[in-house]
Parts: sequence; structure tokens; C-alpha cells
Amino acid sequence: MQSYLLAKDRLDGFVSRLADRLTVYVPAKGADGLWSFVASGSAQPPLALTPEGGNTNMPPKSFVFPRTEVLMRFDNRAGEGGMILREEPVPAGRAVLLGVRPCDAKALAVLDGIFGRRASGDASGEVSGGAFGADPYWAARREATILCGLACNYPCPTCFCDQMGCGPHHREGLDALWTDLGESYLVTILTERGRELASDLAPAAQADLNRAESLKAEAASLLTGKFPMDKIAQRGVLELCELPLWAELAATCLNCGACTHVCPTCHCFDIQDEVKGERGRRLRNWDTCMSGLFTRHASGHNPRGDKLARVRQRFMHKFKYIPVKRGEAGCVGCGRCIKACPVNIDVREVVRAMNEQAPQTPEGAA
Ligand code: SF4
Ligand code: SF4
Repeated sequence: MQSYLLAKDRLDGFVSRLADRLTVYVPAKGADGLWSFVASGSAQPPLALTPEGGNTNMPPKSFVFPRTEVLMRFDNRAGEGGMILREEPVPAGRAVLLGVRPCDAKALAVLDGIFGRRASGDASGEVSGGAFGADPYWAARREATILCGLACNYPCPTCFCDQMGCGPHHREGLDALWTDLGESYLVTILTERGRELASDLAPAAQADLNRAESLKAEAASLLTGKFPMDKIAQRGVLELCELPLWAELAATCLNCGACTHVCPTCHCFDIQDEVKGERGRRLRNWDTCMSGLFTRHASGHNPRGDKLARVRQRFMHKFKYIPVKRGEAGCVGCGRCIKACPVNIDVREVVRAMNEQAPQTPEGAA
């Protein structure tokens, strides 16, 4: 692992040289006042990798799992061989995302376990994760996207990444981690493909490494909202499903889906056909378990037909079902859903209650 130094007044030049070889995306504030990742050429210089409010409003998940993407096209040529099906080519073209927060990189690593990923440089071609093999669209974009992280020196009050197996300077999922040292960035290379980002940088000095270590400790000390989760793992699914919590949440939740829309680990999708005349295309679109239509069957039956069942599903999936299967939560503690919820439902309070609340006692029971 090697570390280099990049002076902040050289950032714009560094990014524009990188853009000669790769498509570079950086956090930038849009006209709507919201922060998102945009192509570096469209961001106003001087570049600032640190969004106001700590993180981009939307996570960079959409670079690997777009809100909508074409899977295949079809054309019914009657008399010319019938229906022609054409698989959509997997996307090509390499990109680098600069300034990805550690929680968002960890989220992509969590999703690798769900969509599957062929490990970069793995000669055996083994697919990591993914019960049905790697999703080709996810795997292709993931391989083509270099993730360059920016450590959080000042976590927000809504952050709880440290409680979710992550942390403000966490490295999982990243190819390089940058640390803001004030006048410069410490660039720590974490993978082989991250190495190409440091080709024209000077090596860092020991004092720079020491400074980064003390910033890491300071950032960790700012995360004070500890809450226990140990009992959730021991509690059975049925016991958790009986908690009074779900009725309390269902009374206020609007099922608006804002929480799932901004979440870096939410990955539900719907597949729909758009048809015009004899031609059409098959699309994969983000969906949300908060929608009443999400689990409605063709018969009309809906196993999650009420709000209580949908609210319960969101939290049980993240904090019980995914951990049982994968050994880690389906949440990285980014805090976006806390900020986005119009009725102030706080995921930390829900996890506390899942851990501690007593199940509902049937009426008349001792
Ligand atoms: S559930 Fe909330 S805090 Fe957890 S990863 Fe999703 S948006 Fe972030
Ligand atoms: S953002 Fe809040 S109100 Fe909207 S679906 Fe999520 S928990 Fe419910």
C-alpha cells in the first residue's frame, strides 16, 4: 500500500489529465442546490470534493445500477423470421468516481454480494456472491468503475457508519482513499487499478501519514450514537414480526419511498416492457418495497397488502434477512433516509426497538 500527496491547488489539473484517459465524475452542487456526481467537465472549477452536509444527496449507486436501463430489444418481423430478440450489449467505457464516501463504497461491496461480481484480476473467473451468478450489467459497470474515496473527517449527526461495520475512513470497496489534510490530499492506493491514479504524484512523508491517522481517530470519536444490535441476531423472525413497533411505524409512514430512493444499499427493481407497434424494449427500473404494487401478484393477491407489512419488510430485510444470509447488515449507516423521511422516521430508533422491544402479548395471555 503506497501513499502520495496531491496539493489542493493542483486538483483541477490532476482531474483534467485524468479525464484524458477516463470519464471522471466528481461531487458537484446542481442548480437545484442538491449535490450529486457529475462529469468533471460540467462541474464549475475549482472542484470541491466535499459536499455541504457531508455527502451527496444521492449515492453513487446509480453509476453501477442505473435508475433505468435497457436489458433487451425486440422486433416482431412477421414474414421475416418472426420475433427478433436482441440482448442489449453490456456497457463499455471506463470511469472513475472521485470523492466517494466510505459508506457508499461499502454499500457497493454489500451489493456485490447480492448482484455478484467477478473479482478484478481473478484468473479463475470465480464469481463472488450472487446466488444466480453475476448480474452481467452490474458486473460490467462495477469492473469499469474505479472508486476513489474521500475519508470523512467530520461525520454528520445522522451518520452511524461505525455501527454498521464501516467507519469514516473505512476502505472496503475502494480502489484508493483520499484524506483531506488541509492544504493537500493524502492519496492512499488500495488496489492495482487504483494505482493508475497516482502515476504523477509525489510520495507522501511519514508526517502526512501520521496526520491522516490522527484525523481518522478524531473522526471516529465524533460518532457517539452507539446502539446495541446484538439481540436482533438472536431473536427469531416470528418474534421480530410480532413487535408493536411495526404498527407504530405504519401509523406515521406515508409509504412515499423517499427512504429507499436515497439508500445506497436498496436494490429492488421491476422489469417492464415498453412496446410501440411491433417493436419494444425490456427495461429494468428501480422499485421500492414501500410501494403497494411492488409485491402484487398477477392474481391480484398481495402478500404485503398493507402498510404495516411493507414498513416491516424494509427494516426486516436490512437488519434480519440480509444479515442471516450474508453476515452483515443491508445498511451502511449513511443517514440519508433519516434526512429524507418527511415524517421523521429514524432508522436508528427502529433498530434500537428491534433489539429491545418486547413482542406483543396476545390478549388474555399471562
Ligand atoms: S437504511 Fe438509511 S442509513 Fe442505512 S444505508 Fe440506507 S439510507 Fe443509509
Ligand atoms: S421516507 Fe419515511 S414516510 Fe417515506 S416511506 Fe420511508 S419511512 Fe415511510
